[in-house]
Amino acid sequence: MARKRCILRVAIATPLRRLFDYLPATDTVNEKLHPGTRVSVPFGKRKEVTGLIIEVADNTEYPLNKLKRIHCVIDNQPVIGNKHLQFLLWSSRYYHHPVGEVIFNALPSLLRKGKSLSYSHNGTWLLSDKALQFDFDSLKVSDKQLEILKYFKAQDTPVAETDLSCHFSRYKTSLAVLEKQGLIKKVKNQSHDQHIQINKCNLNLNKQQQHAIKNISASLDKHSIYLLDGVTGSGKTEVYMAIIEKVIQSGKQCLILLPEIGLTPQLIQRFKDRFNTEIALQHSGLADTERLRYWQSAKTGAAKLILGTRSAVWTPLLNPGLYIIDEEHDLSYKQQDSFRYSARDMLLVRAQRDKVPVILGSATPSLESIYNVKKNKYEHLVLSSRAGKSIPPEFRLLDIRGKKMHGPLSQVLVDEIEQHIDANRQVLLFLNRRGYANHLFCHQCGWKAECPRCELPYTYHKSKNRLICHHCESNKIKMDNCPECNEALLLLGHGTERIEEQLEKLYPTAKIVRIDRDTTRKKGSMSNILEKIHSGDIDILIGTQMLAKGHHFPNVTLTAIVDADRGLFSTDFRASERLAQLFIQVSGRTGRGENPGQVIVQTYNSDHPLFHQLINKGYSYFSDSLLNERKQASLPPFSYIAFLRAEAHNDNDVKHFLSHAAIELKNFTNDTLHIFGPIPALIEKRIGRFRFQLIIQSTSRNKLHQYLDEWLLKLEQMRMSKKVRWSLDIDPQDMS
Ligand code: ADP
Ligand code: ZN
Ligand code: ZN
Repeated sequence: MARKRCILRVAIATPLRRLFDYLPATDTVNEKLHPGTRVSVPFGKRKEVTGLIIEVADNTEYPLNKLKRIHCVIDNQPVIGNKHLQFLLWSSRYYHHPVGEVIFNALPSLLRKGKSLSYSHNGTWLLSDKALQFDFDSLKVSDKQLEILKYFKAQDTPVAETDLSCHFSRYKTSLAVLEKQGLIKKVKNQSHDQHIQINKCNLNLNKQQQHAIKNISASLDKHSIYLLDGVTGSGKTEVYMAIIEKVIQSGKQCLILLPEIGLTPQLIQRFKDRFNTEIALQHSGLADTERLRYWQSAKTGAAKLILGTRSAVWTPLLNPGLYIIDEEHDLSYKQQDSFRYSARDMLLVRAQRDKVPVILGSATPSLESIYNVKKNKYEHLVLSSRAGKSIPPEFRLLDIRGKKMHGPLSQVLVDEIEQHIDANRQVLLFLNRRGYANHLFCHQCGWKAECPRCELPYTYHKSKNRLICHHCESNKIKMDNCPECNEALLLLGHGTERIEEQLEKLYPTAKIVRIDRDTTRKKGSMSNILEKIHSGDIDILIGTQMLAKGHHFPNVTLTAIVDADRGLFSTDFRASERLAQLFIQVSGRTGRGENPGQVIVQTYNSDHPLFHQLINKGYSYFSDSLLNERKQASLPPFSYIAFLRAEAHNDNDVKHFLSHAAIELKNFTNDTLHIFGPIPALIEKRIGRFRFQLIIQSTSRNKLHQYLDEWLLKLEQMRMSKKVRWSLDIDPQDMS
């Protein structure tokens, strides 16, 4: 009798947009072959590659004798549950991105590499009251048992076995002995609600905060989307925490996404102080084992609070109860290479699939979200005033044309800074350009130092005495004389490093700190700097956008935007939206404590309407008028777009490929689709490659995606597509 055939359809991390069929390792029926389980397979020239079973089927398009067998099954249980797997597959279809890359991108790197995951579903343990009475060192236990006890003590919260498995090998016998001695006890059925002691909020929340909390709490058991539109410092985080408290008490989990730089130690501490529970972090700064441990505790339901950056959107949860996206407008939620997903958009989709409420928070909501409020898709909750006693900052638009300057700082600003630091307040200077000078230039012959691969000026970094290309990170030693005419070279332009030097000269006794990617690269350096600022040990902070968002510095009373004109004249249709958001966010760092704050904006374009609308009428008025412009031009959110991006060493190859791709698309679409380009990307050359893009626009999202599917098949077959690097960017967020 013919045995029922078992064909495994396996996802593998490759750029090919398909699954691969395999046969089981042996013909004996194997119980472990479930979707979501990892297998080790031969793939191309490689002997062992990690794959993930997507489907167990009984048929294949390929001749059976051509199919290879898998080597082995890695997991006893699926590492990705069915619901989560379906979500990942959906994302792969939405972004038209190779399924294997999507799946493996969603796994911690140790799992990607095929490392084993020792599952234990036996729950969670904590120290017994008896144990707490002893000095552990006096106990008659083995070294390992002692270590485990100390580990429990250090954690101070219930410890999941999944957690122990990462720290101790063969811990089970020790656990059994400790339990027998009555030193530890098991927390029953995972919902250790009794053991989470939530500290009450001791603030008197204002009317608007209460209104928001009441509204959201009223329907926690179903899917709805809230836009928490609260000015900077209005107490949004307090609103999140009040809702989180309710969700945790009901035994469910909360997933909170924060922008890359919003994940500061201070904020994590704030959550830790409020909820005495393990917080599972998910961000790229974690060690691999740490990342896996947290991922597991989210998956098993042990962690109630999961806090992370963009990639945390892929964290599996056992029992989701609430999703939050803080600073939802932030560009860091969009991945800008390979798998170009938007974590905000994917979390919204996930919330709908999981029937979970989701809160989008921002002081400067994206136009997409504002539009969705207008269409009644999101509920709008407003916090219009600052929390506590603090009041909104006062703006001063400072036209610096013809003014006396100290480098990039005007005399007026220099005097203001002095007044604030004399009064023992802190000053924050914002300049979104790191390094010392952004041009090295010959006044005699016009030669300038440029990265040969990107054809863009090098930035001089004085601390390293090197010229660094900010686009490709290539660098070389700085020369003093012109290579063409031997004249002495000039340094033009100001970066944060140069302003820091300037400030040291102007205020010799002031304590100054610089915050940019160069000063915060080392692990722990950011939290050291923040600590200094909070302890009042700093007078002047100078920094890039790392300083702009999320931070709460109560003693900052003056914020200055040193060069407000950057970005005013960009060709990217989102540039004004981004500039306005940055402007409001930077301003939001001042006057958050007892003392009122001031914002000084240095510009050569003081009559530019953007400044006037923002300062005199506010972000909401400004964003409405931007929305109106988008509507006239039929740009997102009034239409949907995708980019076909391509790059190659030869610019003709790129243009050819894109032109033919455009013709191909026009062949089978009607006028529901508009195609523009090829046009050069904002950064036209990078690392030796010329970059162009095709813009595809439609008012129907479904139509757009349907055509893209057909088109991709054609593109993959085009011979020209082998000569260029190309990728599709769905809902692109910038044109660079
Ligand atoms: P946001 O997240 O909107 O920037 P936060 O929640 O961080 O604002 O609040 C800013 C500061 O104001 C924090 O120190 C917070 O503890 C405090 N705060 C929030 N709500 C209140 C309130 N109702 N009364 C007093 N202080 C508050
Ligand atoms: Zn010269
Ligand atoms: Zn370069």
